[in-house]
Amino acid sequence: MKQKVSRRDFLKFFGLGTAGTALLGSATAVPAFANTAADKLPTFEMGPLKISKAKETASVCAFCGVGCGLIVYADEKGERVLHIEGDPDNPNNEGSMCSKGIALGDANTIVDKKRKRVVNDRRIMDVLYRAPGSNTWEKKDWEWALKEIAKRVKETRDATFEEKDENGVTVNRTQAICHIGSASCDNEENYLFQKMQRALGVINIDHHARL
Ligand code: SF4
Repeated sequence: MKQKVSRRDFLKFFGLGTAGTALLGSATAVPAFANTAADKLPTFEMGPLKISKAKETASVCAFCGVGCGLIVYADEKGERVLHIEGDPDNPNNEGSMCSKGIALGDANTIVDKKRKRVVNDRRIMDVLYRAPGSNTWEKKDWEWALKEIAKRVKETRDATFEEKDENGVTVNRTQAICHIGSASCDNEENYLFQKMQRALGVINIDHHARL
């Protein structure tokens, strides 16, 4: 007669059998399928890894202040991230990553209507500029953008620089500019950003991960 085994019975029996095996060795009775299942595991032929031709780039996780190092595997054209993993050579994380960081590989993709993961075509890849008073964005190149940023920083600093505060204390600062750093930058880059901002007299310096 067939006996109906509930999920709870199964777990109880299997759990006791396994624990008994660990404590008493092979003399403990365990379900027959528990011994034979391992022998019957199917074998698989491994094809080439999907990252075998991928371009590897060392990077830093952008999600929090821990700054774990990671390796990004992109397709040959460099358009699509295929996989990421922790960088074993990075002393911050020595190859490990948390669940949030390991999902970074999907950051440039979306799930389309057919439930397929595809590259997110709404991702902004160009410099976009909206002039004061305008309601349209213009595409610009980086050379234009960097010159424009430098020009505006200089103008703003010159117009707002304070050598002394209202009590006559030397401050050499501007309060009209702020700088926000990025967890994608490493220690050395952040050190240089700090130096540059302090040299300009910027005192409002923050970071999206509060490093
Ligand atoms: S992997 Fe996790 S812990 Fe490491 S930087 Fe990214 S979010 Fe932070």
